[in-house]
Amino acid sequence: MEQSLFIYNTLSRQKELFRPLVEGRVGMYVCGPTVYGDAHLGHARPAITFDLLFRYLLHLGYKVRYVRNITDVGHLEHDADEGEDKIAKKARLEQIEPMEVAQYYTNRFHDAMAALGCLPPSIEPHASGHIMEQQQLVQEIMDHGYAYESNGSVYFDVEKYDKDHRYGILSGRTLDNIKDASRELAGVGEKRNQADFALWKKAQPEHIMRWPSKWSDGFPGWHCECTAMGRKYLGEHFDIHGGGLDLVFPHHECEIAQAVASQGDQMVHYWMHNNMITIDGKKMGKSYNNFITLPQFFAGEHERLERGYSPMTIRFFILQAHYRSTVDFSNEALQSAEKGLQRLMDAWKALQRLAEGQKVKGQPQVEMKYVEELRQKCYDAMNDDLASPMVISHLFDACRVVNTLLDKKASITAEVAQALIQVFHTFAFDILGLTVDTGASNKEREAAFGAVVNMVLEQRQQAKAEKNWALSDKIRDDLAALGFEVKDTKDGQTWTLNK
Ligand SMILES: [Zn+2]
Repeated sequence: MEQSLFIYNTLSRQKELFRPLVEGRVGMYVCGPTVYGDAHLGHARPAITFDLLFRYLLHLGYKVRYVRNITDVGHLEHDADEGEDKIAKKARLEQIEPMEVAQYYTNRFHDAMAALGCLPPSIEPHASGHIMEQQQLVQEIMDHGYAYESNGSVYFDVEKYDKDHRYGILSGRTLDNIKDASRELAGVGEKRNQADFALWKKAQPEHIMRWPSKWSDGFPGWHCECTAMGRKYLGEHFDIHGGGLDLVFPHHECEIAQAVASQGDQMVHYWMHNNMITIDGKKMGKSYNNFITLPQFFAGEHERLERGYSPMTIRFFILQAHYRSTVDFSNEALQSAEKGLQRLMDAWKALQRLAEGQKVKGQPQVEMKYVEELRQKCYDAMNDDLASPMVISHLFDACRVVNTLLDKKASITAEVAQALIQVFHTFAFDILGLTVDTGASNKEREAAFGAVVNMVLEQRQQAKAEKNWALSDKIRDDLAALGFEVKDTKDGQTWTLNK
């Protein structure tokens, strides 16, 4: 690994040189979705941020085990310890099995992630498939005296833990702040203190998702799964844990407390968090009517959208901001991202035509030194806490060079052109994860293909009118070879695509 990668560690609040625990290998855990609804922009951002990190680590030659979970049980409404399970609620409303809800939205999440060009994680564990591991974690925490049972549920004793360790180490909150913030809430109920959080919840009679345990028939608290599954697949100590900034408190704070309370020390070396996305300056939320899902973005089916935006436009839009800054979505911002992406892709296509080099007498040459500097500038940007906007700006600089070549204001040898192609490919495609994309949504593309078929069929109609049966049959057969079935009906020709 010749490159020195610095990443911002939320725990130390500074950029640190990344050094893996085991040379050449990286263990990385990212909090995945709770699968009770379609993914939205807020899911796209962590997925793309950690895909960028995953791709860069792979590019640097690390063997990476990337674990991203699927939360299919235990995530209660309002991220609280009371209320209905998010998935069970959806299942009740739609009168289907909770696991049908989870599977349906897991499949749709995978489709959206693939469209955004995110590589699949190495392991994608489900919370419901790791109940034993979570029960074991709860038992260890109880054995060390940091949890108590109350009416069949088990709670983490935050006050006791805070005396021995420090609760709030990641978020910078103190127990007093946390207590102040929660004072207005309803009584503590089964908990000793309002700040305590559930490790195991006794299921109410109507609750379908339940498992037997020594405490009660119930289900694990939301924070348990990531600690239990992270440890199972990455070990007691691993390199990177990521997620959205909204997960710092309480989710990740609770994960740290669970790890320390169960095994005596922290599990994670580098905590990384991506910032949030706002829509027209406002937080995303159902109450603002700005809650736009990824399928709606792709299809342009939401009143806030002027039209659809391709998955690659969304990826590029997100990468144009540093992952630790906020991003504000607007139609204008996405349209400008679409143009930027188009510029990059146009330059990429033009570069292919310049691959053999180009001689223009008396014009300045694009030197190998330029390409080498470009490559190093892109690495420097990635090494500086994944500064993707800087990488993009360096690639735009390369686009300008390509334009001077196209205008024949400069020339390039085949050797330098090949090197430039390689730098462009490495950063735009391998690392930023962009793919050549027309910028149009699938629907627009389908409409364009359909219009072409209709044009061809008009030619066939013309041939038939002229009794040119050979041409008319040829058009039908050629279309059939491409999978288009043409039928002649009383009202004219119809076609279907058998693919
Ligand atoms: Zn998590």
